[in-house]
Amino acid sequence: MNILVTGGAGFIGSNFIRYMINKYPEYVIVNFDNLTYAGNLENLKDTELHSNYYFVKGNICDANTVNHTIRNYDIEVIINFAAESHVDRSIADPGIFIHTNVTGTQVLLHAAKECGIRKYVQISTDEVYGSLGETGYFTEETPLSPNSPYAASKAGADLLVLAYHETFGLNVNITRCSNNYGPYHFPEKLIPLMITNALEDQALPVYGDGMNVRDWLHVLDHAAAIDLVLHNGNSGEVYNIGGHNEKRNIEIVEIILGHLKKPKELIRYVQDRLGHDRRYAIDPSKIEKVLGWRPAYTFETGIVSTIEWYLNNQEWWKRIKSGDYLEYYSKQYGES
Ligand code: NAD
Repeated sequence: MNILVTGGAGFIGSNFIRYMINKYPEYVIVNFDNLTYAGNLENLKDTELHSNYYFVKGNICDANTVNHTIRNYDIEVIINFAAESHVDRSIADPGIFIHTNVTGTQVLLHAAKECGIRKYVQISTDEVYGSLGETGYFTEETPLSPNSPYAASKAGADLLVLAYHETFGLNVNITRCSNNYGPYHFPEKLIPLMITNALEDQALPVYGDGMNVRDWLHVLDHAAAIDLVLHNGNSGEVYNIGGHNEKRNIEIVEIILGHLKKPKELIRYVQDRLGHDRRYAIDPSKIEKVLGWRPAYTFETGIVSTIEWYLNNQEWWKRIKSGDYLEYYSKQYGES
């Protein structure tokens, strides 16, 4: 199988590529990424020499480069991870989110249709469903009700994917996962931010009262779920993916501090994110029943191996947490 993985230099895409190369060494994997601030080829340093892995620097909004790459590598399948992915940045600057996440998806869908692609998989998010109260879960039937510009752009992309299926008969799937964690996670996101700040004895900025709930999914459990959807997903279907790991943000911070033996005094409550969704929780029973997916990680095992990874790979994140990142961080949290 010849697969175009867009956004493969980011957090989830790079973990997915490594997973696929190890499991299906005969597959051709083309990583198509324009290397924004979040794209980092160091995430894939260990796979660079694999004979069936290729990297193409390109923008998913650029139809010519997308079409040329599909034809050049005889691509049969597209998996779209490429996106602007950080909610805080979408509040500060929504325009690029609409361009990349909505227009970019439409360009890929159109290229898929024109080039006779066999299957298109869109990596979406539970954030398209909006926010939950204290109880209940998102199912695939939950109406879309996105709250942030990021979530709205992802919901717009999902609607386009379904439209290309209905209108043109394109073989598509959409996966909607909860918050991922694991190695190579860019340190602006909650878990790597807290781990790396704690390791540097810096304040740990916690939004609002810290009681927002997220449902955590190990990135390798996510990769295994996408693998199943890619091979066995029914055309036009949406699959929710979640790890049965609901945690309040403050619980996560306390687990990290506890494991690193750092004091709780490092916690600093900061002004809440605008429109901060209170709770996300996924009902993954469809993918469990229909495709036989089960998460291999519990949060308790996954968070320890993740913390250990950041301890053992300080060069990777220290390089990222310099330069442009410092400017972003001081704007966001008022200090560097
Ligand atoms: P990320 O920000 O780490 O990586 C995104 C990648 O896309 C980067 O390598 C970047 O260079 C690339 N990219 C951005 N714009 C591009 C463009 N115009 N053309 C080509 N490449 C471009 O994101 P991630 O956390 O790995 O998320 C991957 C996907 O999963 C996204 O679609 C995101 O919406 C979705 N998702 C992520 C999470 C999560 O917890 N991280 C949860 C749910 C859904």
